[in-house]
Parts: sequence; C-alpha cells; structure tokens
Amino acid sequence: MNEFRGPWPDGATGAMALTFDCDVTYAYSPARPDPAGPRTGEALFAKSPKRLQGYSRGLYGLHTALPRILAFLKRRDVLASFYIPGANVERWPDAFRAIVDQGHEVGAHGHEHENVSMYRDDPEAEAAVLDACLDAFGKHLGLRPTGYRSPAWDMNLHSARLLQERGFAYDFSLFAGEAPHLLSDIYPDQPDLLEFPIDWCLDDAPYFMWFMPPHLMAQFHGPDEVFEIWKAELDGIVGEGGVFTLTCHPSVIGRHHRMNILERLMDHVEARGDVWVAPLADIAGHVMRRQAAA
Ligand SMILES: [Zn+2]
Repeated sequence: MNEFRGPWPDGATGAMALTFDCDVTYAYSPARPDPAGPRTGEALFAKSPKRLQGYSRGLYGLHTALPRILAFLKRRDVLASFYIPGANVERWPDAFRAIVDQGHEVGAHGHEHENVSMYRDDPEAEAAVLDACLDAFGKHLGLRPTGYRSPAWDMNLHSARLLQERGFAYDFSLFAGEAPHLLSDIYPDQPDLLEFPIDWCLDDAPYFMWFMPPHLMAQFHGPDEVFEIWKAELDGIVGEGGVFTLTCHPSVIGRHHRMNILERLMDHVEARGDVWVAPLADIAGHVMRRQAAA
C-alpha cells in the first residue's frame, strides 16, 4: 500500500485535520430510508411530530454548538473542514456562510444525508444526489466543494468514479491506512482518487452520541478517557508521518466538557510543535503537488 507520509510543510512530522459533519437534524432522523419514498426534512417532520426530540437535538448543534466551535477555531487560529448535506445549506445558508467567511473548508456530505448503500445498483440516483448537493453549494455559498465525505461512511463501487467525474479532489469515507493514498492503489478497478482514511475511534459519535432505548448507540464516556485515546492516536499517526483526522459533529462535540477535549488536544499539538494543522483540501493539494513533482 503506497501511502503519502511526507515530506510535510515547514518540516512537520505529520499532519492533522479537525473535521465536523454538520448533519443538523439528519443526525437524529434517518434520511430517506426508501430512495423512492418521500424526501425528509420539513415534509417528513411535518408528518411526524414525534421527531421533535431529534429535531431539537439537531438545532442545538446548529445554533449553540456551531458558533462555539467557530469561536474555538478562531481563538486557536486553526482552519478546519466542515462537511454539509446540500439540503442543510439550502435551509440555513447564513449559518454555513459563517463557516466559509472564517476561511474554513466546506465539503459535500450528500444532499439529505443519504446512506449511499441505497444506491448499490443505481449510480444514476447517487449521481443525482451529488448534483443536488453541488447545486445547493453553488447557489447558496457560491462555491464548488472539492472534498467529499459519505454520510454513514459507505461507498459503492461506482461512487469514486462519480466523484471524480464531478471534479472532487478527494474522498474521506474509508478505513484503509493512516495516511493519504490513491483508491486505485488498493481497490481493483477504482479511479485515481485521493483517499483520506477515517476510523470510528476517531469519531465523537461512538463515545457520546446517545439515543433513547432501544436504539442505544453509546454510553457516555468521560472526557479524560477520550482525550487519552485521541492523543495516543495523534502521537502514533503523526509520529509515522501520517494524517491524524478527527470526525466530530457539532451537536455531539459542542457540549462544554467535550470542547475541553479539543482544547487539550490543541494544547498538546502546540506543545509538540511538529504537526501541520490544515483543512483536508489544503492537505490534499499538498499531497497532489508532491506526487506530481515526484
Ligand atoms: Zn453525517
């Protein structure tokens, strides 16, 4: 497996990206379980007032946690990557424009947070979702994202081709490795799309995202425990020249005791002094320039 493990800018040992999925209400109400069924969001919510709890949890992420995260990033002088379903951009353009105005990267995350496993045998439907998402970004934010993270971290055999045809520079949805690599390097018949690996242990949801039984997803974990896990992963991945990525959700990480984990992690990164912290679009650009020059 041919991974890119440096050299990194300014002699850094490795790189790091803080990333946030702005799922808002889709985090707590599955989007479009039937691809032929009704669209979710307002219409489904109106028909299903029982979803009010999940709806309000999503709004906590948008109205309370997202401004807190943006203030944290500004204070720590860090640029991050935010992945947003297109329908959320349509619905709350001002909230997401604030992300762009602060210089952060915004990437595509489905249109209605569709789990693309629905489209295993229907690339046209998956393409339509991608196009709807790109249209929303263009219309409301005036830009075209170059990064993609699949909702629910799944990819079909045709997904990377659809991304490449639309000019995406990278995908950020699969688990192999701890450093950027080309999908074509490890999966047969896949295109030369740059892939940044993820892992569930580097996601806030498994530690903190709690649902009412019977859909229990996680018991709450203490911040010290999660900090130690993330710090050890950061030291290990960066120490081997890789890219440490953290996947967070505003409604989850935005609670005060969890934001403290990010504060402590940035303290640790600053103390190390050898980590290049950047949005994934910038890291992808660096990797592609180095590979082209090699
Ligand atoms: Zn998501």
